[in-house]
Amino acid sequence: MASGGGGGGYRNGVNKAPNLRTSSSFKSKLPPTNARRSSGGESGRVRVAVRLRPRNAEEQAADADFADCVELQPELKRLKLCKNNWDSDTYEFDEVLTEFASQKRVYEVVAKPVVESVLEGYNGTVMAYGQTGTGKTYTLGRLGDEDTSDRGIMVRSMEDILANISPETDSVTVSYLQLYMETIQDLLNPANDNISIVEDQRTGDVSLPGATVVNIRDEQSFLELLRVGEAHRIAANTKLNTESSRSHALLMVHVKRSVLGGEEDFSPNTQNRSSLVGNLRPPMLRKGKLIVVDLAGSERIHKSGSEGHMLEEAKSINLSLSALGKCINALAENSSHVPVRDSKLTRLLKDSFGGTSRTSLVITIGPSPRHRAETSSTILFGQRAMKVENMLKIKEEFDYKSLSKRLEIELEKLIAENERQQKVYDNEIERIRLEAQKRVNEAERKYVESLEEEKMKCQMDYMESIKKLEEKWAVNQQKNALNGEIQRGSSNQDVSELKQLLQSEISARKAAEEEIRSLKNLLPRFSKDELAGGNTNNFGLEEILEEESRQKMKLEEEVRVLRSQLAQFSIEANQARSHPDRVNGGNPLLGLEGSTPLNNLRPRDGSNAERTSITNLHEQVGLQKILSLLESEDASVRIHAVKVVANLAAEEANQEKIVEAGGLTSLLMLLRRYEDETIRRIAAGAIANLAMNEANQELIMAQGGIRLLSATASNAEDPQTLRMVAGAIANLCGNDKLQARLRSEGGIKALLGMVRCRHPDVLSQVARGIANFAKCESRAITQGMREGRSLLIEDGALPWIVQNANNEASLIRRHVELALCHLAQHEVNAKDMISGGALWELVRISRECTREDIRALARRTLTSSPIFQSEMRRLRIE
Ligand code: ADP
Ligand code: MG
Repeated sequence: MASGGGGGGYRNGVNKAPNLRTSSSFKSKLPPTNARRSSGGESGRVRVAVRLRPRNAEEQAADADFADCVELQPELKRLKLCKNNWDSDTYEFDEVLTEFASQKRVYEVVAKPVVESVLEGYNGTVMAYGQTGTGKTYTLGRLGDEDTSDRGIMVRSMEDILANISPETDSVTVSYLQLYMETIQDLLNPANDNISIVEDQRTGDVSLPGATVVNIRDEQSFLELLRVGEAHRIAANTKLNTESSRSHALLMVHVKRSVLGGEEDFSPNTQNRSSLVGNLRPPMLRKGKLIVVDLAGSERIHKSGSEGHMLEEAKSINLSLSALGKCINALAENSSHVPVRDSKLTRLLKDSFGGTSRTSLVITIGPSPRHRAETSSTILFGQRAMKVENMLKIKEEFDYKSLSKRLEIELEKLIAENERQQKVYDNEIERIRLEAQKRVNEAERKYVESLEEEKMKCQMDYMESIKKLEEKWAVNQQKNALNGEIQRGSSNQDVSELKQLLQSEISARKAAEEEIRSLKNLLPRFSKDELAGGNTNNFGLEEILEEESRQKMKLEEEVRVLRSQLAQFSIEANQARSHPDRVNGGNPLLGLEGSTPLNNLRPRDGSNAERTSITNLHEQVGLQKILSLLESEDASVRIHAVKVVANLAAEEANQEKIVEAGGLTSLLMLLRRYEDETIRRIAAGAIANLAMNEANQELIMAQGGIRLLSATASNAEDPQTLRMVAGAIANLCGNDKLQARLRSEGGIKALLGMVRCRHPDVLSQVARGIANFAKCESRAITQGMREGRSLLIEDGALPWIVQNANNEASLIRRHVELALCHLAQHEVNAKDMISGGALWELVRISRECTREDIRALARRTLTSSPIFQSEMRRLRIE
């Protein structure tokens, strides 16, 4: 809002002396309102306009014959005051307003520039001075209720102010006061009738903290406030027994405007918020104060006491007004002392005259010559006031409060934004967590499904294995039948060999008998010769004869042996022919410790005739003789002999006799001495059978049997030999007393070594041996006879055990399962078993083993082991 815009600006100042009769030589100056501000402020002289009231009804009647005492020359801004009919004084004013001047025009020339300055942050004063009844209140305070064009300066100022502020950032407040006899009364709150003036020590600004301050939002509320104020003024004056013309009315309007720098951006979307803080500039707060003063009637200066007041009282009534006159005189004369502090009015108007305010004074005069003196006095007051220079100074300050509020709002916004983002983040985290949970559940479900599938597959595989096994079984049956044939063939060969041998022996005997006979025939002749020729020759012949007899007996014995062998082989051949399945057939183990693995050499449930034959045979031939034949130089004799012994050893009844007769030693000797695989196989079979007996087991051990069997195990190739050896060792494994030696002499290693031959019969014996060993070991630990890790584990049996725990051959599987259960019963083995993968097998056994007892044993074992339990928990095995 530019000052002096439109038609409202004052013309250039008038500096001439008030008493000049004529106007002359006025110098034009630029209006100070257009001068730019300097740091010290802008010069602003008090502007004075004079307004002439039209004649009122009374004047029209009473002064009808007289001319007005003033004559206005508005275009020259001059006023002529008639001294008498022929003389007059001419005064120049900043504005001369005739009796016809509209309220609008009066506002525009008197008040509008001041209002504009106030809106810009200056203090402003509009004051009316004049005799009572000349139109001060008319000029300032008309509300325009009946005719809006009547609105006075107060209403119009407020209209302008309200039109030029923004309600969001700016504020307009109003106080309305009356000053009477140096007492300030609150026209908005009559109870508040003694308000004190407070002066800021630092700035010198005066304020009335006790006054009611009303926030103005619209014109209507302001009009209402003015009405209330006026009503209170009347009431107060009635109470004080005075007239409003004797009091001063002051309307104080505070305008606070916020001027934004414009460069700050407080929106939460600002990209570069970090730099924002550095650039923060508080907004500027402009505080303009407009004081509209409706002074008491000026006539009282001269007419004190006229209304019946005591002198002092009258002085007091007019104190403020006369003090104002004095101050203005002092200011006009540039006096060094301005008695501002003499009255409350001058204190309140300190800034309006000689201060920083833009001040506009309207002096009101009446036309009546009867009041010429008052009019003159008023004009002189106005003339003096025109000399008062003010230094306009903008009231501008940094609005830290507003900035702080804005920052607070910004902070709150950021907090809200942060919280919102935190919430979004939390929600996102929760969503991811749920998603992950879902995936885990899904994976678990799939895992369970695939486990289930795997289980089904395993079961199917298992069924398949069983099927294959059965097929294999059938094939084996057929093979065995074939083997029987072959065996029979070999038996037939043996028989024919024996027959030949017998034949040759018989012919040898016959030859010997022939020789004896011929010798006998010679005997009588020799006897005669002896009789004739002496005894010497005769004695030699007798010796020869005896030798021949012995030879004969020996030969006869051998013939007997051969016969018995022949008989035995005949029996075998017959047996093979009639029961081919028994020769090399199924090998159902009846128990662990006492099983009989070598039934191919054992005449089993054959006819009594067979058994009798063998019994007869060995009775006939003599066990000693048969055993002695084991050492025969002739390999075939040895083989025959060992077969006989093995067959005898298969019968429990014979075992003791065989051992007593040194058979065990001989059999071991065979293993020690001969490389021949057949001999070894049969001998090992015989030893295995003898090893069923506990006493024999110890004997075998004592005679180094384990080492011999182990050596055989490592050299042999034939699965049947290995089966015999494994069977023998397996039997020994079932002896509690032999555990340590069995192990130290390489028994366990030998057993494990034999698994190189994949023949199921061998593996089955190995498994049985391991199961026997594990069982004895377990028993020993339970009885407190032994402690420490299992010797089986020490000797490295665990991998094979684990590998074969689910062997498709049920016999092997059973042994291994039992071995695992025995091992698992002792915590000392648990760690090795876990690391070796045995736990999984145990778990499987506990679930899937078709044998209820083994399944239960495995389950019990698992449950009772804390180590297994914790590992199972770790592996989430239920
Ligand atoms: P003051 O306040 O100076 O004592 P007022 O404003 O009360 O004088 O005026 C006295 C009377 O004169 C009132 O009736 C008012 O209406 C009337 N009056 C004053 N000035 C004018 C004017 N310019 N035009 C018409 N009437 C006026
Ligand atoms: Mg008045």
